[in-house]
Amino acid sequence: MRYSRIFAKTTKSAPADADSKNAELLTKGGFINKQMAGVYNYLPLGLRVLTKIQNIIREEMNALGANEVLMPTLTQEENYAISGQDAIDILFHLTGHGGSKLVINQSHENVITPLVKTYAFSYRDLPLAVYQIQNKFRNEPRAKSGLLRGREFNMKDLYSFHATETDFKKYYETVQTAYFKVYERLGLGDRVVLTYASGGVFSRYSHEFQALCEIGEDTVYLCSKCRVAVNKEIIDEHNFCPTCQNPNLTPVKAIEVGNIFDLKTRFTDAFKFKYADESGALQPILMGCYGIGVSRLMGTLVEIFNDDKGIIWPRSVAPYALHLVAVGSDEAVLREAEQLYQQLLGSKIEVLYDDRSNASAGEKFADADLLGLPLRVVISKRTLEKGVAEFKERSASEAELIPLQNVRHEIDQRCR
Ligand code: ATP
Ligand code: MG
Repeated sequence: MRYSRIFAKTTKSAPADADSKNAELLTKGGFINKQMAGVYNYLPLGLRVLTKIQNIIREEMNALGANEVLMPTLTQEENYAISGQDAIDILFHLTGHGGSKLVINQSHENVITPLVKTYAFSYRDLPLAVYQIQNKFRNEPRAKSGLLRGREFNMKDLYSFHATETDFKKYYETVQTAYFKVYERLGLGDRVVLTYASGGVFSRYSHEFQALCEIGEDTVYLCSKCRVAVNKEIIDEHNFCPTCQNPNLTPVKAIEVGNIFDLKTRFTDAFKFKYADESGALQPILMGCYGIGVSRLMGTLVEIFNDDKGIIWPRSVAPYALHLVAVGSDEAVLREAEQLYQQLLGSKIEVLYDDRSNASAGEKFADADLLGLPLRVVISKRTLEKGVAEFKERSASEAELIPLQNVRHEIDQRCR
């Protein structure tokens, strides 16, 4: 992609109300644009990052054998009344023609349960698992911290249905493993800890996936031996490590990037969803739900991977693998850079080419640091005179000079 063609470019100053690193850097970088409190536009570069995070999650959910669907944003309020959730404080309500009462979904238990009931009747249909990646809407009293707490935000939600407790437990553990694979692939492997939290009325615990980070709203009590934690809400009744019983837990700040729940029969009973066993008798169905905060993860990555110059994207989610910069208006430079750009396009390397004629070298370098792509390759009159191109990894402090004849090979090695 030519940077000159991207309509949303970098801006020098962050909005005055940017209250966090992710809001500041993502806005300055032209990744997102604030519509109103807790609601953002995803601009071309930001959408690429969001899509990459979604696709990593999608691959891991597909590997679990789950079905992907897309459920509606809008639903009749009646569905929420059936499960007793129509009065929850964060739910947005609307009135349709003829006074029909509607809600904008804050989660999809009240949609998925009756939906699955239409198709699954017998023990042969279970277990089954369905997920989607979609925006959720919550009337949060305090939308804040950029993408970390929105009123409209992107989530992956998975739901599973089981005939037996044993089957449910096995699946619940498989999902935990899949979640850790997701966080690992996003570069957060050593940051995310499994956290025991309150399970609400129906089960003893739920499990959160907490990314350790200073700006986090949550406090978790961490066991340094097991990298398992206990959430603040249950620390009074459970003040030791659930894995090794270690009583020395350390309070640390964290961002909740996932949450999984044992719902037992809370929704399946409400919607009278049962299955027929081998003898034809109707039996209760056990349900689990499993969320990942996709847009919150994008904000979390920026909170964790940045320096005073800008973002440092993990390779797996960087909007492009390579930032090609042509310095100056020298014809030989432009010819060399253009030729390299065309070759990279042909070999399917994701490249952002800063071809602007109205930006100085200093501006282009500052923008490259702000945008945070993993590798910057600079071609200038000076490098051409030496027969080299300048390579600089975003995470490294020094640049390297690579002979022009090795440039393609080096890029192939580093960007695939
Ligand atoms: P929180 O405790 O942060 O309010 P939650 O427990 O209500 O979140 P879930 O309903 O379990 O959240 O949603 C699944 C995931 O969606 C959460 O783990 C979190 O990563 C993300 N998420 C929840 N609320 C928001 C929000 N307002 N903005 C962005 N992401 C969110
Ligand atoms: Mg939670």
